[in-house]
Amino acid sequence: MKLPFILAKRFVAGETFESAVPKIKALNKKGIKVTLDLLGENVKKKTTADETVKEYIRLLNDISDAGLKSTISIKLTMLGLDIDSEYCRENLYTLLDEAKRLDSFVRIDMEGSDYTQQTIDIYKEAFKQYGKHVGIVIQAYLHRTKEDIADLAELGADVRLCKGAYNEPERVALQNMPAIREAFKEYTKVLLEKTTFPRIATHDDELIEWVKEYTEENKIGKARYEIQMLYGLREETMEQLTKDGYNTRVYVPYGTMWFPYFKRRLLERKENIFFVFSTMFKK
Ligand SMILES: Cc1cc2nc3c(=O)[nH]c(=O)nc-3n(C[C@H](O)[C@H](O)[C@H](O)COP(=O)(O)OP(=O)(O)OC[C@H]3O[C@@H](n4cnc5c(N)ncnc54)[C@H](O)[C@@H]3O)c2cc1C
Repeated sequence: MKLPFILAKRFVAGETFESAVPKIKALNKKGIKVTLDLLGENVKKKTTADETVKEYIRLLNDISDAGLKSTISIKLTMLGLDIDSEYCRENLYTLLDEAKRLDSFVRIDMEGSDYTQQTIDIYKEAFKQYGKHVGIVIQAYLHRTKEDIADLAELGADVRLCKGAYNEPERVALQNMPAIREAFKEYTKVLLEKTTFPRIATHDDELIEWVKEYTEENKIGKARYEIQMLYGLREETMEQLTKDGYNTRVYVPYGTMWFPYFKRRLLERKENIFFVFSTMFKK
């Protein structure tokens, strides 16, 4: 059964690229950059993954033709990671060739912990060949992240740091918010020290205030990092941060395969369930 899109519209910009464009333009006009995510994950058939690569290539060109200030985010399971990792890598490189040609950028989102090692391995190989055109995401809640951050920071990787959105067991990930916040702060410090432009992805006021204070105290300029949030959340905060001179970017998901993303947002915060119902009846 396909659920009506009206349910997801709080968190998803549209079911097509065309329907998302006005929202991207509105964000760009406010000085906020965008990362577009064509929703979907865990593709099982090569024909679907091949079609996805073509769609991403079209998307990179559409972004460029429309003059949008937007890069893209992808999930390796959309490019066939569940089918075969070598095939997935080839698909990623096809996409990165186009990103390089257009002087654009592709960020590899981080999925559940079964994929962490493969995602990092594929990213590191890609980074050797595509450098500034490719980035990765690291999740602060994973126990393994201390080593991963050190390793990626040493490499000079372009890292988006987030808390982590998947339901992970205790042996794999921290379970309580104070510990996750402490880990997030520790890894932010490493990224700020060792990499040129870390991306701090959170809606959490405590972390945002901490980043602002920490960077100020340590004379790290606002131009040295970016704050990222998800479409539909904390719009006013994002606008204020932009007005205050911070680099800001909103992750804008779109597409018909919105259900898993939508479900993660609902499970994350009970207030999001209220948001869904309150916006369903707004135009
Ligand atoms: C740009 C971006 C990209 C991401 N990419 C990935 C990825 O690749 N892989 C992955 O696993 N996860 C990803 N995530 C999701 C991330 O891991 C978290 O699940 C998600 O951001 C929730 O954590 P949080 O720190 O934002 O806030 P939460 O932990 O949900 O909330 C903490 C506190 O922040 C405040 N707050 C949060 N939301 C709101 C709100 N809407 N309004 C008012 N106050 C609020 C509240 O005080 C709340 O108690 C991404 C997140 C962002 C922003």
